[in-house]
Amino acid sequence: MSVKPVVIIGAGLAGLSCARHLVRQGIEVLLLEAQDDVGGRVRTDLVDGFRLDRGFQVLQTAYPEARRQLDYAALKLRNFEPGAMIRTRGKVVKMADPWRRPQAILSTAFNEVGEFADRWRLARLRWHVTQSTLENLWAEPDSTTIDYLRTTCGFSTDMIERFLLPWFAGVFFERELSTSSRFFRFIFRMFAVGAAALPEEGMGAMSKQLANEIPGGMYRFLSRVESLDGQRVRIEGGQLVDAAAIVVAVEGPEASRLTGGKIQSPDSRSTTCFYYAASQAPIKEPLLVLNGDQTGPINNLCVPSNVAPSYAPKGQALISVSVVGAKVNESTDLEIEVRRQLRVWFGSEVDHWSTLKRYHIRHALPSQSAHFRDGGTPNPKLVGGVYHCGDYCETASIHGALLSGRHTAEALLTDLGTGRT
Ligand SMILES: Cc1cc2nc3c(=O)[nH]c(=O)nc-3n(C[C@H](O)[C@H](O)[C@H](O)COP(=O)(O)OP(=O)(O)OC[C@H]3O[C@@H](n4cnc5c(N)ncnc54)[C@H](O)[C@@H]3O)c2cc1C
Repeated sequence: MSVKPVVIIGAGLAGLSCARHLVRQGIEVLLLEAQDDVGGRVRTDLVDGFRLDRGFQVLQTAYPEARRQLDYAALKLRNFEPGAMIRTRGKVVKMADPWRRPQAILSTAFNEVGEFADRWRLARLRWHVTQSTLENLWAEPDSTTIDYLRTTCGFSTDMIERFLLPWFAGVFFERELSTSSRFFRFIFRMFAVGAAALPEEGMGAMSKQLANEIPGGMYRFLSRVESLDGQRVRIEGGQLVDAAAIVVAVEGPEASRLTGGKIQSPDSRSTTCFYYAASQAPIKEPLLVLNGDQTGPINNLCVPSNVAPSYAPKGQALISVSVVGAKVNESTDLEIEVRRQLRVWFGSEVDHWSTLKRYHIRHALPSQSAHFRDGGTPNPKLVGGVYHCGDYCETASIHGALLSGRHTAEALLTDLGTGRT
C-alpha cells in the first residue's frame, strides 16, 4: 500500500462495521486480526456437516443497527417460535407469546409458572417497552434488572425464578440479573417486536456478509497486535505497521491492555456451550427450552436444526446446551453433570447422542451492570489518531458492536475531513 492505511485491530462485528463504512468512503484500511478469519465472537464452524456457532447465539431481527447494516434476505433467516418451553418440577410448561400466538393464550395464562397477575405484568411491561421511543427507554432511571423486575414491575418470585431468570441469564450470561435494567428494557423490546433468528448458513454468515465488501488485500489474519507505538502498531513477531489512524476494535479487556489502561477493562461474562448430534431431536418445536429449576448446570437448550434444518446433515439433529458462567477448568466434571441432567430430562436416548464440540468463551460479554451508561457512550476518539469501538462501548450485543463500529467510522471520517456516511 502506498498511502498509510487506517489500521483496524480486530475483525469482529465492530471492526468489520467500521472498516466497511470507511471503505465505502474510499478510505484505505488494513484489518489486523489475531485469528484465522473474520467474525470474532460471531463465527460458525463446520464439524461433520453440522454448523456450530461459537456458542449458542441468535440475531434479534428488530435490532435497529442490524436492520440498517445487514441484508436479511441474503442471510435467509429462520425464526425461532416466540415464547419458550420451561422444564420445571418434572414437567414441561409452554410459555407462548400470546400477542403473536393468540391460540396459545389459555395454556399460557393458566400454566403453572408464576401467578395469574404476572400475565398482566408481562402485558404491561410489553406495552411500556413497545410504546416508548428507544431514546426515552434509555433515559429512564437505571437499576439492576432484578430490582426492576421485582420492584418496578412487581413480578412474583416464582415468575422471576422459573421464567424470567433463566431467560435473561441466557442473554446476559449471569444469574444474579445485576445487568442494567436499561439494557434489559432494550432487549425485551427487541424480543417483543422482532424475532430471534438464525441465518441459514450460521451466525458467522453475518460477519462474512460485512466482510464481503472489504477487498481481500485489506486483511491480515493470524496477526496479533502486541502493542501500539504512537501512530504505529507492533505485530507479534516484531513487525511494525505505520497507520494514518488506528482503530482498536478488540474485546474490552484486550482494548484496555493495548491502550495502557486508557480504556477501563470491563469484567467478563462467560459461557460454555455443548453441541450434540442425535438421530432424533428431543423436542420437535423450534423453541428455546429453559431450566425453570435452580438445579443442575444447564441454563437453556435448543435444537438449532429445528429452526434452520441446514444446521445438521439430513436425518440428524443438532442439540445446543448452554451453561452460564462456568469456568474452563471445570469442563470435565461439567460435561458429566450436563449429560446427567440431560438424561433426567430426556431419558436414555441421551446415551446415543455424540458430543460434537464444546466451546468455552471466557469473555463472551462485557459486564454492563446498573448505571454503566450514566456518563453516556464513550468518545470513539481516545487520543490523537487513536480510536476505539466494540460492544463494550455501546450494548453488549450484535446491535451494539455494529453501531459502535459505524459511530467510530463516522467520527474518523469527520476528523479526516471526508464528511459523514
Ligand atoms: C456465546 C455468545 C453468545 C452470544 N449471543 C448473542 C446474542 O444472542 N445476541 C446478541 O446480540 N449478542 C450475542 N453475543 C454478543 C455478541 O456476539 C458480541 O457482543 C459481539 O459479537 C462483539 O463484537 P466485537 O466486534 O465488539 O468483539 P469481538 O467479536 O470479540 O471482536 C474482536 C476481535 O478482535 C480480535 N483481537 C483481539 N485481540 C487482538 C489483537 N491483540 N490483535 C489483533 N486482533 C485481536 C479478536 O480475535 C476478535 O476477532 C454473544 C456472544 C457470545 C460469545
